Amino acid sequence: MNQNTICALATANGVGAIGIIRVSGDQSFEIVNKVFQGKDLTKVATHTVHYGYIVDADAEKSENQSHSVPHPDAENHVIDEVMVSVFKAPKTFTAEDSVEISFHGSPHIANKILEVLIKNGARMAKAGEFTMRAFMNGRIDLSQAESIADLIASENEASRKLALNQLKGGISSEISLLRGDLLNFTSLVELELDFAEEDVEFADRSAMNALLNRLENKLASLIESFQYGNAIKNGVEVAIIGKPNAGKSTLLNALLKEERAIVSDIAGTTRDTIEEVLHLNGNAFRLIDTAGLRETSDEIEKIGVVKAKEKVAKASILVYLVDANSTDISDDIQMLNELMRPDLKTIICLTKIDKAPDAAHSAGDPEYSGLLHQLRSGLSFSDFKLLKISALENRNLQQLKTELSSYVENLKTGENTVITNQRHYEALQKSLESVNRVKAAISQGIQTELLAYELRYALEHLGEISGEFTNDEVLGNIFSKFCIGK
Ligand code: GDP
Repeated sequence: MNQNTICALATANGVGAIGIIRVSGDQSFEIVNKVFQGKDLTKVATHTVHYGYIVDADAEKSENQSHSVPHPDAENHVIDEVMVSVFKAPKTFTAEDSVEISFHGSPHIANKILEVLIKNGARMAKAGEFTMRAFMNGRIDLSQAESIADLIASENEASRKLALNQLKGGISSEISLLRGDLLNFTSLVELELDFAEEDVEFADRSAMNALLNRLENKLASLIESFQYGNAIKNGVEVAIIGKPNAGKSTLLNALLKEERAIVSDIAGTTRDTIEEVLHLNGNAFRLIDTAGLRETSDEIEKIGVVKAKEKVAKASILVYLVDANSTDISDDIQMLNELMRPDLKTIICLTKIDKAPDAAHSAGDPEYSGLLHQLRSGLSFSDFKLLKISALENRNLQQLKTELSSYVENLKTGENTVITNQRHYEALQKSLESVNRVKAAISQGIQTELLAYELRYALEHLGEISGEFTNDEVLGNIFSKFCIGK
């Protein structure tokens, strides 16, 4: 039995109008031909679609030996009425002969079709195996393979665009040009080793330095783009904190009312962590642990410092609510001093500004200058944004949204290519370190042998992103995160 042809359900596992099973490998046409009744698929033109039936030919033969070719009337053995698309190598997703079977989208039918394909010589694909074959067959590089997973996982405009740019080869093309130049220098340095006795210098050290500087700049700016890329890909975590009755749940409701609210489980967290996601200008803001907020308006929920700190630890933005009608806000100031940190964007909102000014309270002062004074003199950090809002009357909520959006905008770098992948980020950091080592080696007039060694090391790290240098463990790790059929 040929184990080289793989099959899997390519569409989501569930009921749908249509499901698609993908088959790839050198026996694809022969195997599907054995179970397809309609046309001889080995004789049809590539990239064509054919109508027919998937039949369980074995069952047919054993019960009715006189029919060497299954007959459509033998309905018991017809599994489904299908459309079959035929793609001949090499212009296919995997660069191998491939077939896609579109069937009526029932999980039961999918299983039956997979069963007959396997009975006839295909095997179930492993997670990500189709994309892995596209990579192994040189049709895409590793970063493009990863971008396919990102594209499928993209939940908003910004992450879709970044993944698509990556799929077109964004990061690899930027790096492979510079890597190619470095490879040329490395070859020259290695050539010098062959002529060690003669003390020649084939590789112009100052030109090499100039190239290393260009590489250093490029790598540094790609590394810098990761914070933005990460915000786009995973969303920005926002913690809404404030004393009971400060107006947190009212604000949450007001923010989510206009924008499409999605309640989702986040990968990597426990299933009972529910997050609300706010979409602003195509960016996702994940409001941390707001599960109870919407319902607990009258239940006095005591948020201790520890719990608040836990929430804020994960966040990039803190929205802290202070009731504008309070007089003494020393509790809030104490809490804020515990929570604020230099890498946390802090937005302090004086809430409920719609309440009629009451002389007994600081709200008697429409500018809230008393509260502002307490804040400014009490807080140990001066880097915060102050807004005066009313969630109930939707006043100045736009300012809050603008502040949230500007956080993402400010992360943007001048770089066209944006890094979104942790593996690329780490490879870039290692590349930058090794480029710096090569530079140091040159300036110290290090032995050619050691220089060649450092150069090889740098080339390896640069090659990790596109997969030119990789190992089975890394590949296994990347593709096992894909789902089966991808
Ligand atoms: P939480 O405990 O921080 O979630 O506070 P809530 O959102 O439950 O609000 C507490 C009380 O303040 C409720 O009675 C709200 O209706 C009221 N409230 C919240 N925001 C505003 C506001 O902007 N203006 C006014 N006037 N009342 C508000």
